[in-house]
Amino acid sequence: MNINKERLAEHFIALCEMSSPSREEKGVADYLKQTCSSLGADFIREDDSAAQTGSNTGNLIIRFNGSNGADPVFFACHMDTVNPGRDVKVDRNGDILTSRGGTILGGDDKSGIAPLIELVTLLKENGAAHRTIEIVFTTCEEIGLIGARHIDYRLLQSRFGYALDATGIDQVIIGTPAANKNKIKVHGVAAHAGIRPEAGVNAFLIAAHAITKLRLGRIDEESTANIGLIKGGVATNIVPEHLVMSGEVRSHSAEKLAAYTEEIKSVFIDTIADWPTPEGTGDKHPSLDFTMTAAYPAMRLSMDDIVVETVKKAGQTLGRDIQFIVAGGGSDATFLNGYGLATAIIATGMTDVHTTDESLNLNDMVSLTELLHAIATE
Ligand SMILES: [Zn+2]
Repeated sequence: MNINKERLAEHFIALCEMSSPSREEKGVADYLKQTCSSLGADFIREDDSAAQTGSNTGNLIIRFNGSNGADPVFFACHMDTVNPGRDVKVDRNGDILTSRGGTILGGDDKSGIAPLIELVTLLKENGAAHRTIEIVFTTCEEIGLIGARHIDYRLLQSRFGYALDATGIDQVIIGTPAANKNKIKVHGVAAHAGIRPEAGVNAFLIAAHAITKLRLGRIDEESTANIGLIKGGVATNIVPEHLVMSGEVRSHSAEKLAAYTEEIKSVFIDTIADWPTPEGTGDKHPSLDFTMTAAYPAMRLSMDDIVVETVKKAGQTLGRDIQFIVAGGGSDATFLNGYGLATAIIATGMTDVHTTDESLNLNDMVSLTELLHAIATE
């Protein structure tokens, strides 16, 4: 297997320097269509998801037909990046790649895309017998997995595959948590803060009392909770009437997810129920609107599933020790699994992602390409 490290670096740098914030992935999509077409792809299709996602492109599904008789496999990466991710300039220091400063690098998820291009280039070059390989490039992963949510999965022949989208190396994620998002609206009573504060109920004060009673952060070994956004208030001289908070709960256990979400709701309900109603305001009481949305379901693959066994075997062929782990985030794999496509997540070596200190070691992308090659030719 002659992986061309410099060619891999060139594709990676070109991809990182192409701006692709969520909903603006078209430049990257065009580059990938063109690259795969010149590599002799047998099928290149953009699905119709753009109407639902609001992106300037659909998801891409690309197929390279195989001949070794093994089951077809897909590899998925998302094309979008987080902010600040426009006009990235890549700095290279030996094998370490970083942004020149002020922006992310974009290794999430371009450190998966570049090895995929190297994989199909390599297979064309060395003529190795391989299974049918399908490549899925999604949009809008970073803003709620909405490309994968709306993907036209019927275009795929494969029944299992891998999302290349995680930190670390030689790690495969086989379980991710489910998440609930909540929106909590606290309604107090407005009053002039200087002239008649006695008639007001400060929504911020209610929220503050409730928040101090919540269990936030890591709640147990498989669950977390957070309040991430607070908005409210009108002016310094008005007792604030409304406040809106948004938060989330994640858990690998469906029962705990439901229980912790309920716990947050009841803390707010109890806090409001105990709150005194100001004198002389008639029937004005503080109140609450609590809405919960299921953001995504949990995913858990079994160790004897073909998707786990195939990558395990590929690791053994290469003499590498692959770790199978359960980790804490939603990803495109969540929805692909939901559509009946068994999907594990393979680490790409991306490091300090979503920060301007992000870096990537070229050798990690080389070893990822080796693993993909072993899966393809198994
Ligand atoms: Zn990602």
